[in-house]
Amino acid sequence: MPPIYASIDLGGTNLKGMLAHEDGSVVCATSVPTQSHEGPQKVLERIADLVAELCQQAACGPRALGMAVPGLVNRRQGVTKFLPNLPTQWRDVPVRDVLAPQVGCPVYLLNDVRCATLAELVFGHGRHASTMAFFALGTGIGGGVVVDGRLRLGPLGAAGELGHQTILPDGPRCGCGNSGCLETLASGPAIAAEGIRLMQSGLAPRLYELVRGDPGRVTTKELAQAAQSGDENVRDAIVRAARYLGIGVANVVVALHPDLVVLGGGVAQIGDLLFDTVRQTVRQRVGMFPTDGVEILPSALGENAGALGGIALAVQGGLLED
Ligand SMILES: [Zn+2]
Repeated sequence: MPPIYASIDLGGTNLKGMLAHEDGSVVCATSVPTQSHEGPQKVLERIADLVAELCQQAACGPRALGMAVPGLVNRRQGVTKFLPNLPTQWRDVPVRDVLAPQVGCPVYLLNDVRCATLAELVFGHGRHASTMAFFALGTGIGGGVVVDGRLRLGPLGAAGELGHQTILPDGPRCGCGNSGCLETLASGPAIAAEGIRLMQSGLAPRLYELVRGDPGRVTTKELAQAAQSGDENVRDAIVRAARYLGIGVANVVVALHPDLVVLGGGVAQIGDLLFDTVRQTVRQRVGMFPTDGVEILPSALGENAGALGGIALAVQGGLLED
């Protein structure tokens, strides 16, 4: 029987567990609430239980476990350093040393968006690419960079934070301490906030109907619907955010001349209006070389990207030879 690998995608809300073969074919997968308020120790117990349950289903044990983690980790020591969205922020939790004896195999950690980038490289559109950039467009904007077939991690595994490039020098304050980062202009909450403002100013009647005037229900999904059904101002807001995103993509394109840029995450589901604007902005703003060969595509893997990245990480021994 071919070897099986395990992965865990540790999210603030859900823990996704997966067993898969080396080629990414999934043997079994499941998801349980993280219940992160119970603290790291309980969450790690839950992870060990989840892996045990999957192994029982598959009637075999994994060769290695790869874990996608929402923040900074020390990859060599398998220790979490700073997970900003989890209670206690998981500072210096020895995840590898706690989990490895329980799951009975090596455990490797990597930032979740770098994991998603690795998944796109190994199992998604990146299979045919040599140099690629990945933008994860959600509550924040994360990213990852592949240069000449290798995921670029840097000394802290933090290379590829594409959401924190400055786009507007005097723009809104960002969580990272800078101002005017791409994330402050084109993340889901940034775009939704402008939609809410328009709705409350009486400038987005379709949006108002869609959410019955409730600002708590406005996400980029409703904005895309409102734009499509005739809210010109909402359409303009999406195009403006997509132009900022296009500038961020163009900056990466001039730096790397990649074959491929992948846009994933919930905001990418806005679809053609977003992708067409980004492609047009890249054409307009990159003048030093033709960009016809730079493909800009939606993720091939969607919500499974983190978990599949954990599988690729496990297969590749945690990328620790870098
Ligand atoms: Zn920032």
